[in-house]
Formats: sequence, C-alpha cells, structure tokens
Amino acid sequence: MNERTLSIVKPDAVKKNAIGDILRRFESAGLKIVAAKMIFLSKAEAQGFYAVHKERPFFDSLTTFMSSGPILVSVLEGEDAIQTNRRILGATDPVKADAGTIRRDWGTDVEKNAVHGSDGPDTARWEIAYFFSELEIQTR
Ligand code: ADP
Ligand code: MG
Repeated sequence: MNERTLSIVKPDAVKKNAIGDILRRFESAGLKIVAAKMIFLSKAEAQGFYAVHKERPFFDSLTTFMSSGPILVSVLEGEDAIQTNRRILGATDPVKADAGTIRRDWGTDVEKNAVHGSDGPDTARWEIAYFFSELEIQTR
C-alpha cells in the first residue's frame, strides 16, 4: 500500500554531518522524499512530539536531547513506507541494530540513535501533521 511516514534525522546525526548519507538510504530503499525541512525544536515542542512517552524514565533526557540542536524532519512516501523505513532504521539500540542499518552506522546510544521513524499508520498521520501542513507536502 502506498503510505507516508515521518522521519527525523536527530541532533546527534546532524552533528555527525550524516544528513546526506541518511537521506540517500531512504532514496536507495525506494522511498520518495515528499517534504523536508530543518528545524530546532524547543523543549516544549519536543515534549509535545514525544508526549506518548511522558511516563517513561528517559522522557526528560530524551526531550532535552531532541531540543539540543537542529533536526531534519521529512515525509517519506512509497509502498509500505512505514515498515520499509523501520527496517532500514534498525533496532532502537544501535548496538542491537542489524549491520547496514542507519542506527547501527550512525547511532550514538539507545537515546541518541540518529533517526526517528513512525511506527504505524495512525502515528504516522499524527506525526506528519505535527510538523507539516498538507500544502508543504508534494503530491506529484
Ligand atoms: P523507537 O524510536 O525505536 O520507536 P521508542 O518509541 O521505544 O523507540 O522510543 C522513542 C525514543 O526514545 C528512541 O528512539 C530513543 O531516542 C529513546 N529511548 C528509547 N528507549 C530508551 C532508553 N531505554 N533510554 C534512553 N532513551 C530511550
Ligand atoms: Mg517509537
């Protein structure tokens, strides 16, 4: 099914100058970049994005990290985009991620793990709308 998913290149990967390499991975996997922008989240904006994790012990540290530097948010589109993107990201913890995945190659640790990818159709819709209006997403 043709789908859209939200991707974030997190502050650690931006600092490593890995934006281009990571976007290349998406395109090589057949995903089309239909929207993209660089932003610098406030702590409150990071807390809003990760609200689903607000009870987790790492919430404060995670949202401090996500508001520590610029990020590249993008919308990826393609056949099974959500699962395709999750597969090439790799496991949450870079040391447990398969060889050749983005997190294995550029992740720093379980928190600073280089990239975010939506985990299902409902979260993808919500996460895309958190950052982009329909007018900012290319449809042809
Ligand atoms: P994923 O990003 O793989 O979907 P989760 O949704 O479980 O992982 O967690 C969201 C984000 O929170 C992770 O990408 C990572 O940045 C951070 N995180 C997850 N687990 C931990 C942990 N045990 N300690 C610190 N940060 C974590
Ligand atoms: Mg998740």
